[in-house]
Amino acid sequence: MVQTKGYAAQTPTSDLGLWEFERREVGPKDVQFDIQYCGVCHSDLHQIKNDWFEGIFPMVPGHEIVGKVVKVGSDVTKFKVGDLAATGCMVDSCRECDNCKDGLEQYCENGNVQTYNSKNHYTDNMPTYGGYSNTIVVNEDFVLHLDEKADLPATAPLLCAGITTYSPLKHWKVRKGHKLAVLGLGGLGHMGVKFGVAFGAEVTVLSTSADKEEAAKKLGAHHFVVTKDAEQVASVKNSFDFILDTVSAPHDMNLYLSLLRTNGVHICVGVPPLPHEIHPFSLLGGRKSVAGSGIGGIKETQEMLDFCSANNIVSDIELINIKDIHAAYKRMEKGDVRYRFVIDMATL
Ligand code: NAP
Ligand code: ZN
Ligand code: ZN
Repeated sequence: MVQTKGYAAQTPTSDLGLWEFERREVGPKDVQFDIQYCGVCHSDLHQIKNDWFEGIFPMVPGHEIVGKVVKVGSDVTKFKVGDLAATGCMVDSCRECDNCKDGLEQYCENGNVQTYNSKNHYTDNMPTYGGYSNTIVVNEDFVLHLDEKADLPATAPLLCAGITTYSPLKHWKVRKGHKLAVLGLGGLGHMGVKFGVAFGAEVTVLSTSADKEEAAKKLGAHHFVVTKDAEQVASVKNSFDFILDTVSAPHDMNLYLSLLRTNGVHICVGVPPLPHEIHPFSLLGGRKSVAGSGIGGIKETQEMLDFCSANNIVSDIELINIKDIHAAYKRMEKGDVRYRFVIDMATL
């Protein structure tokens, strides 16, 4: 077994703290890599709080993981010791269903295995533990390659915030001529702005935080609307082709649907703890659609990393000591994220 040190929540109400545990021994198709940086996603906070469902505790969160390979199994062909490596939200899937065959492992019909708060029903049925830790063992099919010149801490958030915004914008072919609104300027939102701009769309940030305007413009956004200001909101009624909704808390979908133009699409990637209430009138007046999107498949994640490397796209981050994780969570709960916390795992 691989002795591992991490930061875990022992219960949904306890603070995270140092915890030692074991990972599976490196199997023939496994890659072990030492973790250098791990991003802090709002999903980490949702899951340690049991916002969505009953979690598996102790829980070691973290699914924006980058580091360096220290060991490879006998049948590994894609990695060697010393390579940079990364893992996002999934560590396994069936590989046999139609979705897996289409490179959509995130929608595996037999269930993908999440990087943490999951049980690996394809191997040992043991709980998975995430990236707030010093080392990880992952099947090579779920390990991504990074550019050797990558800015590692700023690259880590691409593994979730990056792919979760890249994938739906690609799926809906968002491009020049489209008006895209990014709702919520946090970890996902700021990557949504960067990709929207890179794909040629006219990008508006819809934010509850008036003080994020300057930063939004620096990220490349063309317009900024404070959603608490009724006049500003009225000025963008019926105007967007797409809204990329990254909000983590309850919000009024009917209001935002009124900002879409005819045939517009509201894409949900944010996952608040409670379901949305949508009135059919909000949809039928203007033939509007509500869509959803979950992370992205492995092939698309590699494509996104390569796209970012070629276009100099990384996340805007605040590098933190792991001891400051609770202060980071508190700021995240207030919407005060600029624009992703990343843990320097050397501080563990
Ligand atoms: P984050 O960094 O905390 O950003 C969320 C942003 O939402 C905040 O910064 C804030 O932006 C806005 N917001 C917060 N409360 C709000 C409210 N009551 N009304 C309106 N806006 C509000 O979170 P994140 O890491 O980007 O994650 C966002 C959501 O996506 C989470 O629910 C997460 O679990 C989910 N997620 C989904 C996937 C997927 O596969 N679909 C993947 C990763 C994460 P402003 O200050 O600009 O208003
Ligand atoms: Zn995430
Ligand atoms: Zn499958």
